[in-house]
Amino acid sequence: METFEAHYASMQDAIAKHLPGADMELIDRAVEYANAKHRYQKRKDGSPYIIHPLAVAQIVAEMGLDSDAILGALLHDCIEDTDASHEDIEKLFGVTVAELVEGVTKLTRANFSTSEQAQMENLRKMFMAMSKDIRVVLIKIADRLHNMRTMQYQSASKQISKCQETMDIYAPLAHRLGMQRIKWELEDLSLRYLAPQAYQEITSYLDSHKEQDEHFMAAIQDRITERLTRVGIVNKTYGRIKHVYSIYRKMQSQGKTMDELYDIYAFRVIVDTIPDCYNVLGHVHDLFNLVPGRFKDYISTPKPNMYQSLHTTVIGSQGIPFEVQIRTWDMHETAEYGIAAHWKYKQGSGGGTEKDFEWVRRLLESQQDSDAEEFVQSLKIDMFDDEVFVYTPKGRIVSLPAGSTPIDFAYAIHSGVGNSMIGAKVNNRIANIDTTLHNGDIVEIMTSKSSKGPSRDWLTICKSNQARTKIKQWFKKEKREENILHGRSSFEAEMKRVGLPLSALFEEDLEPHLLRKLSFDNWDDMYAAIGYGGLTATKAVGRIRDDVNKAIRAQVTEKQPQSLLRMRPDSEAVLQNRHAVNGVIVEDIDSCMIKFAKCCTPVPGDAICGFITKGYGVSVHRADCPNAQNRDDPRQAARWVRVRWATQEEQPFDTTLELDCITRDGLVLDVATVMTTSRVRVKELNAKDLPNGRSAITVRFEVKNVAELETIRKKLLNIRDVVGSRRGQN
Ligand code: MN
Repeated sequence: METFEAHYASMQDAIAKHLPGADMELIDRAVEYANAKHRYQKRKDGSPYIIHPLAVAQIVAEMGLDSDAILGALLHDCIEDTDASHEDIEKLFGVTVAELVEGVTKLTRANFSTSEQAQMENLRKMFMAMSKDIRVVLIKIADRLHNMRTMQYQSASKQISKCQETMDIYAPLAHRLGMQRIKWELEDLSLRYLAPQAYQEITSYLDSHKEQDEHFMAAIQDRITERLTRVGIVNKTYGRIKHVYSIYRKMQSQGKTMDELYDIYAFRVIVDTIPDCYNVLGHVHDLFNLVPGRFKDYISTPKPNMYQSLHTTVIGSQGIPFEVQIRTWDMHETAEYGIAAHWKYKQGSGGGTEKDFEWVRRLLESQQDSDAEEFVQSLKIDMFDDEVFVYTPKGRIVSLPAGSTPIDFAYAIHSGVGNSMIGAKVNNRIANIDTTLHNGDIVEIMTSKSSKGPSRDWLTICKSNQARTKIKQWFKKEKREENILHGRSSFEAEMKRVGLPLSALFEEDLEPHLLRKLSFDNWDDMYAAIGYGGLTATKAVGRIRDDVNKAIRAQVTEKQPQSLLRMRPDSEAVLQNRHAVNGVIVEDIDSCMIKFAKCCTPVPGDAICGFITKGYGVSVHRADCPNAQNRDDPRQAARWVRVRWATQEEQPFDTTLELDCITRDGLVLDVATVMTTSRVRVKELNAKDLPNGRSAITVRFEVKNVAELETIRKKLLNIRDVVGSRRGQN
């Protein structure tokens, strides 16, 4: 059983070595405090719990972190496992230490497992984002390292899940932070439980070849040292076997057994200066045969994680290839401890404020790799504030702007989810849809087919542009027509109630003035606003009432023939031969914009009528279109005009057919074939599956006239499983 004394002594040694000025009295108080708090807890092996915080503090000291981090490490499990509170720790050890402990606690509570490989990067980002202070990450890595070292006491299932998490999160993070030694150790410890057989095979092979390997490495080491010493380069040279996991990966990727695998030896030459690195390279290439294509200069181009060294692979006299890594002591320190190694350079600048991380950012931003760029995004301290990472119930991670709500989440999943949302659960509890989401929350959106769609106030609740845009789109697309209809009828009813003629609205002199008064560009926009509830009809009419009355009075006195109160002649006046626009002639209007109504897409031969829209010219409907049935309504009459087809022209027209079909493979192809063989231009072809094995195929295409349209319609209806057809409806 491991003892308190032994662990305390090793921690003390590490602190004395790496942080000689540390306040041991304060550290001792933290040890005592943690020991007292954890006194009823035991490690899985039966030893006192305090051994774990001591070991973590030792690792943190070895990383070269400051005393706050060491105190944080000693106290890291206090909030999670004991009755100690944030306030207690703050009172005794200061704000910074309390925040470090709080940060580690948050990471301990979060769930960092997902089955989706693609989500790993987000998971790691979330981990970083939750940490706020890089020391929190480093303490958590130290915590995991000690837990991995003592993994043998855990149950088999816990071993697997912890090791998987270590491989997915902790080892890559250690790598990103440039902490090679810790990364290797985490990988090797994980492999031991994740692939025990392979691990066993590799380690026992290495054991049985130990003597041979050592002999080989000593010979190489001697040759290099001897040469460098002779030419006056101060150096430390040593050989090592690559770590077990990297050998395992080589075996996997090359499909080889241990025996067939070479390139498992690596030598390191550590020197004082960068010029010496390049000199050493020359001597190594002089002593051994170079393996072409294996030289890498990470000194002039450092790796994204700040790693610098020269790498070259050469072959010794026995024909065995090996790698030589050449670096300065500074580079070595960085390679071993990564970001933590830089900690000491900024010590004394106080507190874990954003400014302290300036150097991290500078270092990382100087890297060009896209990988590095992404990493900078995840590491930047100020970035922590503007993103939040949450889970779907299936464990997918969604990143949202900070302050986001379930509404933002729903629209981030899919606009269909957002539009049919009726409620939300956060961490399995019903939550308001305006709840602010936090890192690590599990969010579930409840939807219903009978949902009436988003509500207007969602626009002010949501934080993401994505959600806002999608909600607006919905209102524009799904509701505009409806809003215009509703808005128009309540507006017109109000006009009637106060005794104002509708035709006044469209009087040439008055209209722009009225619209300006109402602050709308056209009537439809105003109707839509009334329809949404953004404006009441009473208010709208109230705003223009006086102006309309004034205008009427003025006109009555002037007795203008084109009176505001004039009704359109209802007689069957013969259409004059006017200029045709888009193949349509409009009564009384020589040249105006013509558009074909999307609701009924008329084609030549159809009986048609025209509606004067404001801003879009005349909209042409089929006479039998449901939207054209209010022509006799006196309130509408002013805007309906007689139109006819200009028969002499044979321009193509767009029309739409909706086919009602029984779903089957190849149906769309059959439809497309009919269209092609009929030599019509198809502009759009959509198929969508409906419930009950039905599907709707919509074709928009060009035809010259109704006769042609009818021919095509018949051909389409002859296709097997096409059971019906309908015109229009875009
Ligand atoms: Mn712990």
